[in-house]
Amino acid sequence: MNRFITVVLIAISSCAGFAQTMPSGADPKLWQRALRLHRSAIIVDGHNDITGPMMDQDLNLATDTTGMIQVSGDPVHTDLARLKKSGITGEFMSIYVSGSTLQTGGSMRRAMDLIDVTNREAERHSALITCTTAAEIRLAKKRNQVCLLMGIEGGYAIENSLYALRNFYRLGVRYMTLTHNVAHDWADAHRDIKHNGLTEFGKEVVREMNRLGMMVDISHVSEKVMHDALDTSRAPVMASHSGARGVNDHTRNVPDSVLKRLPQNGGVIMVVFYPSFLDERTNREENERTVRLKPQVDALREKYKDDNAAFVKAENELMAANPIYIADYKRIVDHIDHIRKVAGIDHVGLGSDFDGVPFLPPPMKGTEDLVLVTYEMLRRGYTETEVRKVLGENFLRAFAQAEKVAGHRQISGQGSLKKIK
Ligand SMILES: [Zn+2]
Repeated sequence: MNRFITVVLIAISSCAGFAQTMPSGADPKLWQRALRLHRSAIIVDGHNDITGPMMDQDLNLATDTTGMIQVSGDPVHTDLARLKKSGITGEFMSIYVSGSTLQTGGSMRRAMDLIDVTNREAERHSALITCTTAAEIRLAKKRNQVCLLMGIEGGYAIENSLYALRNFYRLGVRYMTLTHNVAHDWADAHRDIKHNGLTEFGKEVVREMNRLGMMVDISHVSEKVMHDALDTSRAPVMASHSGARGVNDHTRNVPDSVLKRLPQNGGVIMVVFYPSFLDERTNREENERTVRLKPQVDALREKYKDDNAAFVKAENELMAANPIYIADYKRIVDHIDHIRKVAGIDHVGLGSDFDGVPFLPPPMKGTEDLVLVTYEMLRRGYTETEVRKVLGENFLRAFAQAEKVAGHRQISGQGSLKKIK
């Protein structure tokens, strides 16, 4: 393709803008400013679970997923067009391994499979590219491409092997969430305590991650593990998808005692979008509904035991008939405000958990609505520099610092990026 056509195509795609409708009551001038800022910023999202449907439903991201439902019954939030509209440059694809594999085995195999589907998806679409360094993310922004990055969720995926950890790094994995919801051989989870923190081997894992340049993710872990990780890590830590306990006292969120240590560590808390983690009332009403409707959900599961699609449809209809209060997108910025207050503006980012949650804060429907967060930060008086930090610059700084600590000779971004056809 000649240079002129390339330039025109880039111009067209970057003018495509964002499809979101302005929220009711919004200031049109500020909305336009938010769109402009959002378009020019580098945006990194810490956590996206679309890898599950890519693997289990053979989802090609070129498919229009609007209105689509996952096998689990949760809505699909991501596809190629929606990602483009989101403004995201770096999307962390979750290499999520269920805690049930601690019983069944197969955790490393699952991780390997998900790494393959992520790479194949990037190979399939020229708008996508896999990235492993901060420099590559910056270069992809210039080239108008979306970077897929990878983070393992559930440290048991290494099956207690530092050999495996090193190979995951070589395959492109750049963070690892030390646990998911259950404790395992070397770390405690937020709601499952077995060791009172990280074991000696757990600390060895953190040190090896530092040496490699793989970031230590403290989402999902217990408070003691967060502190042990901070005591052990020489590199900035991250929480790929958590809120602040100071706003909603939920074990999945990060307490002030940890936030206060971030200026020294250099880490970033990437705020999750799941309303039950963001908001006490949503969490309470969701839990109450789950208990109240359990007999009906069990009956539906029995009735449709041979037809999962019919089951998830009936279950979703039951939920729709029993609505709960769901906190809206402004609640995300309450958490950003709090982290800014306690840790400082340099230590907060975005970690949506798109495709990993049953509902998003309205009117957000998927990746395409990310600009709502930018708008709300501007509305609250954040400067453009501050907004850029939250959207991606803080993560990029921490990521680059982790690369430095690793002391690796990094391959230049230029050399390892594929060319635009
Ligand atoms: Zn998670």
